[in-house]
Amino acid sequence: MKDSETSSVNGTRPDRNYNNGEWTPSRFRSFVISALRTATRKWPPKFKALKEACTGRKTNKATGKLAYHYQCASCKKQFVQKDIQVDHIFPVVSPVDGFVDWDTYIDRMFCEKEKLQVLCKTCHSIKTQVEKKERERYGATKKAASSRST
Ligand SMILES: [Zn+2]
Repeated sequence: MKDSETSSVNGTRPDRNYNNGEWTPSRFRSFVISALRTATRKWPPKFKALKEACTGRKTNKATGKLAYHYQCASCKKQFVQKDIQVDHIFPVVSPVDGFVDWDTYIDRMFCEKEKLQVLCKTCHSIKTQVEKKERERYGATKKAASSRST
């Protein structure tokens, strides 16, 4: 999908109806993204990344029970599974390039385990904030550049 005349921003097409016109393009887009996210739960490299970060069963300080612990790739502390997330080292949507097309999106979402890491919720939220700021900064730069060129 290189043709910018027929493909609009964010992977929806202005020249077609979604669900017989009952859905906006953005609702369709959310629907597709949600379906893809659900599929990542069954993506084998995700389990490989989890397995590699696993440090074995230890007593969970909060419950006193034995539980598998995982090491956060950032702060290096150990957490139980509910307190960690598998993170895309390279965000699915690049903060610099933004949404390119669905091929790129799917390729980045279903990446190999080398491009995945386990982060605790705190470190993951920090990384997400940094990416959000980058996205705003680059998005603003792009908008300024495109308004200058027109
Ligand atoms: Zn951490």
